[in-house]
Order: sequence, then C-alpha cells, then structure tokens
Amino acid sequence: MSCNSGQSGVENKIRGCHGVPSKCHCGLEVVLYTSNTQANPGRPFFRCPNRGDDHLFKWVEEGVYEEVVDLKARIEELKEDGILIKRDNKRWKLICLFCLKLVLGY
Ligand SMILES: [Zn+2]
Repeated sequence: MSCNSGQSGVENKIRGCHGVPSKCHCGLEVVLYTSNTQANPGRPFFRCPNRGDDHLFKWVEEGVYEEVVDLKARIEELKEDGILIKRDNKRWKLICLFCLKLVLGY
C-alpha cells in the first residue's frame, strides 16, 4: 500500500499507510485492540505496542474502508481488461476463420 495519499508526514506516521496497517514506522507489528472508552465502546483499532503519541493508531473500519475502495477500483480495472480480452478473442476468431477460408478455398 502506498504512503503517498496526500496526508501530512506526521499523520501518515500515526495513521500508517493507506489501508490496513501491518507495521508501525518504528518497525513493530501493529496489534488489534478493542476500545473500552465511553466515546467508542467495543470499537476495534490497530495500535503500535509502543503506544506513544507518534506511533501508529488507526480505527479498523477506516483501514478496511480504504482497502474496499482500492479493491473496487481494481475490480473495475480487471473488468475493463476482461472486456478487452473478449474483444481480442472475437477479432482473432474472425481472422482465423478468414484464413481457413483462404486456405481451404471456401
Ligand atoms: Zn511504533
């Protein structure tokens, strides 16, 4: 995942790269926790085990949402690629038929 999503350097450091984070900038693997604050009871989040203010903290749904948006865009790209392949297949079938007709004299 890219870290160049237009966020400031500090925000990138704390929120991690785009999508679901795996590591903090300090190199430690992030851990999945569940909030027990009054404001966010039961809300899951990723956090660096160092727990410092400048270490990674990200709500799980934010990371998952970013992943889904990326995957939707990727699916659209693949759909377009699939359409192009189908068009190519059709063209090659026509060329093959034409060649067969020439060779076999139909
Ligand atoms: Zn860290």
